[in-house]
Amino acid sequence: MTQVRERPKARSSDQAETMAFTIGKIGVIGAGQMGNGIAHVVALAGMDVLLNDISTDRINAGLATINGNLTRQVSRKLISEEDRQAALARISAAETLEKLGDCDLVIESAAEKEDIKRRIFSDLCPNLKPDAIIGTNTSSISITRLAASTDRPEKFIGIHFMNPVPVMELVELIRGIATNDTTFEACREFVKKLHKTIAVAEDFPAFIVNRILLPMINEAIYTLYEGVGNVEAIDTAMKLGAHHPMGPLELADFIGLDTCLSVMQVLHEGLADSKYRPCPLLVKYVEAGWLGRKANRGFYDYRGDKPVPTR
Ligand code: NAD
Repeated sequence: MTQVRERPKARSSDQAETMAFTIGKIGVIGAGQMGNGIAHVVALAGMDVLLNDISTDRINAGLATINGNLTRQVSRKLISEEDRQAALARISAAETLEKLGDCDLVIESAAEKEDIKRRIFSDLCPNLKPDAIIGTNTSSISITRLAASTDRPEKFIGIHFMNPVPVMELVELIRGIATNDTTFEACREFVKKLHKTIAVAEDFPAFIVNRILLPMINEAIYTLYEGVGNVEAIDTAMKLGAHHPMGPLELADFIGLDTCLSVMQVLHEGLADSKYRPCPLLVKYVEAGWLGRKANRGFYDYRGDKPVPTR
């Protein structure tokens, strides 16, 4: 992925300040599939991570997933056993937001719901040191609007990782209207340390990747809804006919159907264009709690030996 668009370079005074501000200790809020992936890559890159979620059980589940994924990387000879152990030793549980007080950067990666994220920021801010940066891994929500719910809009930024984080090479960096150059440059250096490529996106609904990807997935769900093809036909068509590595319905299950629906709602509301109307079938699956892989059922049923289409 190439660098998409860059703003002018930081002013020299900002650059001096940036050099003084090194991101060393990271907090991650949300230990789900994205949050545990972010903690994984940050720890492998040699930085200390504190992992927070709503319960100790969820944090422990995130830590177990990280261990499993690191172990798989060792077995594939991508990292050494020493790397695995060192990375795990760098990750600690943070059961409360007070424990994030000495982090240089806190990345919020909780559910894709604006009210949840706003509540997290209002609880988080009083605990942070004054120069701490807040990043959000939101897939779609306005960075400017989220920043306005904090005490530091100039130190707030979108850092949008791709799923699965240890595998995917791209990170979108999104400035809110108030994000200053120091924050942007410090986060650019941070992402470089993770060996990821940056695409700079402007702050419009769903940024670049999801602005393009999610309407395609939503259209695949309409194709299913209208009976043009069944799950297997649609996924096979796009894998073999468009050379996509995963079919769109398989991909929707992988992303999480709740996240897919939230992104479509943000696009629909934010751009006020009926072409972004979430498919009623997507709404129905989410209402059923059939959220995809993480719920063991979505467009496929994952409870048996191999995934079985649900339509
Ligand atoms: P997930 O459902 O796997 O995990 C979300 C986690 O957030 C859960 O463990 C939940 O307990 C936790 N959480 C909820 N409220 C919380 C709170 N108040 N404090 C702390 N933790 C809380 O979801 P996910 O797929 O990891 O998505 C997380 C974020 O990443 C969302 O904003 C999503 O849009 C974004 N994202 C998702 C993908 C993807 O493919 N799934 C890709 C890029 C970005």
